[in-house]
Amino acid sequence: MNDRFYLVSACLLGLATRYDGGHNRNEAVLDFCRRHYCIPVCPEQLGGLPTPRPAAEICGGGGASVLDGKAGVRTADGRDVTASFWRGALQVLQLVRLIKPCGAVLKSGSPSCGSGRIYDGSFRRRAIAGDGVTAALLKRHGIPVFSELSLPPRR
Ligand code: SF4
Repeated sequence: MNDRFYLVSACLLGLATRYDGGHNRNEAVLDFCRRHYCIPVCPEQLGGLPTPRPAAEICGGGGASVLDGKAGVRTADGRDVTASFWRGALQVLQLVRLIKPCGAVLKSGSPSCGSGRIYDGSFRRRAIAGDGVTAALLKRHGIPVFSELSLPPRR
């Protein structure tokens, strides 16, 4: 394990990977990345989805349920994009195996990157406890997942 390497949600660095073509630049995350080796990832782009793309939410559970085949990811008009979210999560896991980071700093609330809090699938911005698909997969493989709201402790 590389104890200074982290994967980071690309949108937190200001890269325009968000579903609507925007970003979620976060100064605290940028400051963290100036002090560590950070590799930007966007699971949804890695899964083959375009930018911009329709917003999506997990329906029927959280990311762990998606991994277990008990929930899916859908756009507001009902299109099933679960396979793309799975593909992106597996690509990020592939990076983990190659680089062996000590953790990931992922965007809260996202159906891919969210950690501990996601939206409930109603597209009404109702938050529930749960992880995004990529965050759930990383946690299942023992990778510590942080967010812009709870960065790794200073070393
Ligand atoms: Fe950001 Fe993750 Fe959404 Fe990509 S999938 S835009 S990195 S929150």
